[in-house]
Amino acid sequence: MKKLIYLFFAFSIFLFSCQEDKDVNKDPYQYETLEHFYTQASVLKVEIAYEPNAEPYVSGGFGSSVNFDFTQNNLTALFAQRSRPIQVLIDKQLNQMTQIPSQNKTSFTSADIRDLSDDYQVEQSTEDQAVVFLVFLDGYYSLNGQNQNTVLGVSAGSHAVAIFKPVLEAITGGGVLGSNPKYQVEQATIVHEVAHAIGLVNAGVDMHVAHQDAAHGKHCSNTDCVMYWTNEGPSGASGLFGGASVNEIVFGQECIDDITNYLN
Ligand SMILES: [Zn+2]
Ligand SMILES: [Zn+2]
Repeated sequence: MKKLIYLFFAFSIFLFSCQEDKDVNKDPYQYETLEHFYTQASVLKVEIAYEPNAEPYVSGGFGSSVNFDFTQNNLTALFAQRSRPIQVLIDKQLNQMTQIPSQNKTSFTSADIRDLSDDYQVEQSTEDQAVVFLVFLDGYYSLNGQNQNTVLGVSAGSHAVAIFKPVLEAITGGGVLGSNPKYQVEQATIVHEVAHAIGLVNAGVDMHVAHQDAAHGKHCSNTDCVMYWTNEGPSGASGLFGGASVNEIVFGQECIDDITNYLN
């Protein structure tokens, strides 16, 4: 019998802000477009930074496996069928990541997140490598002046993603393996938000077949896909982890087909 882990995948939100007011003549922004990435680059680098008290869970979520192997495996699966290989590189251990100074605040807007990437991103996108800056924050997402206490993560553009650690840390309850599901929810949230940043669903990458649940934004109509909107709630996310392995692929075929066929 397939075991299900009931995740409290509380909420994530997508802000489509690829149209940032950037000077296109200024390096390195010319390399940050999705079109450039999918036609020219051979590496996707997920660079990770964290505030004090907001560091990611690097172990303990999937038995003896390295937690970030889950994100690596899922992003690799997205690109696996493209004609030109795209390698995925991710900081997986804390000593590979950047600890940024405490920001001494409890709420962050999308503009704040982009500012953090401007200030602290170490590697910039190049002709051959796209860099997504992923920062773990000791605070909440601020939308329209309100702290979003149930927003786990946000994609603030094509290269800046944030995870809101207090929302993850508030998750309680164990999974079928007796482990704490917040470790797995964190990885699923990272996959979900990075996938937004690289164009899913209909967020810069054209759909191969129509599968956008437009009523819920840039999300997928496949209920078993990590990009399905109710994965933002506990019952909807229950099917994400059949075996709680870092090798489990949580994208549905429709999303994989989008990436496989876009400018390929
Ligand atoms: Zn989303
Ligand atoms: Zn999907």
